[in-house]
Amino acid sequence: MAKVMIIGAGGVGNVVAHKVAQLSSVFTEIVLASRTLAKCDAIAASIDHPIRTVAVDADNVEELTALLKQEQPELVINVALPYQDLSIMDACLAAGVHYMDTANYEPPETAKFEYSWQWAYQERFEKAGLTALLGSGFDPGATNMFTAYLAKHYFDEIHELDIIDVNGGDHGYPFATNFNPEINIREVTAECRHWEGGQFVTTDAMSEKAEFTCPDEVGTYNIYRMYHEELESLTKHFPSLKRAQFWMSFGDSYLKHLEVLQNVGMTGIEPVNFNGTEIIPIQFLRQLLPEPATLGPRTHGKTCIGCVVTGVKDGEQKTMYLYQVKDHQDCYKEVQSQAISYTTGVPAMIGAKMIVEGHWKKPGVWNMEQMDPDLFMEDMNKYGLPWNVIELKDFKLN
Ligand code: NDP
Repeated sequence: MAKVMIIGAGGVGNVVAHKVAQLSSVFTEIVLASRTLAKCDAIAASIDHPIRTVAVDADNVEELTALLKQEQPELVINVALPYQDLSIMDACLAAGVHYMDTANYEPPETAKFEYSWQWAYQERFEKAGLTALLGSGFDPGATNMFTAYLAKHYFDEIHELDIIDVNGGDHGYPFATNFNPEINIREVTAECRHWEGGQFVTTDAMSEKAEFTCPDEVGTYNIYRMYHEELESLTKHFPSLKRAQFWMSFGDSYLKHLEVLQNVGMTGIEPVNFNGTEIIPIQFLRQLLPEPATLGPRTHGKTCIGCVVTGVKDGEQKTMYLYQVKDHQDCYKEVQSQAISYTTGVPAMIGAKMIVEGHWKKPGVWNMEQMDPDLFMEDMNKYGLPWNVIELKDFKLN
């Protein structure tokens, strides 16, 4: 049905390649492109289905445009880093190819986590008759769909949203990040913003803590409020929301290391001159930390990510929780990856499927919740991320 090009051969790229290859009736031809060809080749060799590999620097719009014109895929699945989003969107426009990603564009020099740069492409994609789907991972991605699904099927109006991301997995290292370390650390050290009474309110990073007991015996975890990009699009597209917060679980060892690294300046994104060489501390730190892609075999335990929505149905207030639980080792058995990459890669594959099958093909730049969630949610159940929805009584985090 469609030829796709995956850009990025890291932890998430590996999962997307596996899942896309499992669906050869939809994705008839697969090209895996990334900066380091050897990483593409290693992924292709681990999959029992033909995948062509090619080296490309996605920061170089001309080089990427030429590759896209030569290959003519219908869609690019961008799972490189957020820094490449705009150059890949530019190349897609120049070559007439649909676009999707799993993370908002980030300028390398400032940590922003906002959609403004990509939303600015709306008119260009619309005029070109091309679809750009933003943030089709788990959070953002599945969490946007969960919110849209609850709003559509369980409420007349939604008022409060708590997105709760628990990773109960243990990889045995004192400190490692389970997706790209640079992006992960930038995210968790950023000031917290949450939506309250029609505006974003800023508080210190990690200053709000709560305890959350996950369903299905996943356990009880400390969760910390932080900013996450889907809050920006969800509060825009669901203006009835009075409050929206994002929470993530962190273990004590992770927090202890992060505090020290921050205090000594190792998480900085400003260049530092070291013996005549400019280095960016967080990029150097990245070199020292384990590659997220190597955590798969060592990670045990489960993730539990979901959305708690409070709103009104037929005049009555209620609270619903839609969540997904995934076992790290089950992911490793299927695609040789831990659950963080898996839970990102599967929604990326499903988003791609929604576009190439035509359900979500509409010119312009879209966040997930602007699309109808039903087919996506059906596919989550089919392709490895079954979910559940329950009513919560007396839910209160803060
Ligand atoms: P990794 O660091 O493991 O992989 C990134 C890949 O992108 C590497 O193969 C890297 O190549 C490649 N790359 C980097 N720069 C370029 C470039 N200029 N041109 C071509 N390729 C390049 O990251 P992850 O797989 O963990 O994450 C991938 C994306 O998924 C990120 O944007 C991340 O933010 C997002 N993500 C989204 C989540 C969600 O739920 N929405 C959750 C987790 C991640 P090289 O090997 O040469 O460095």
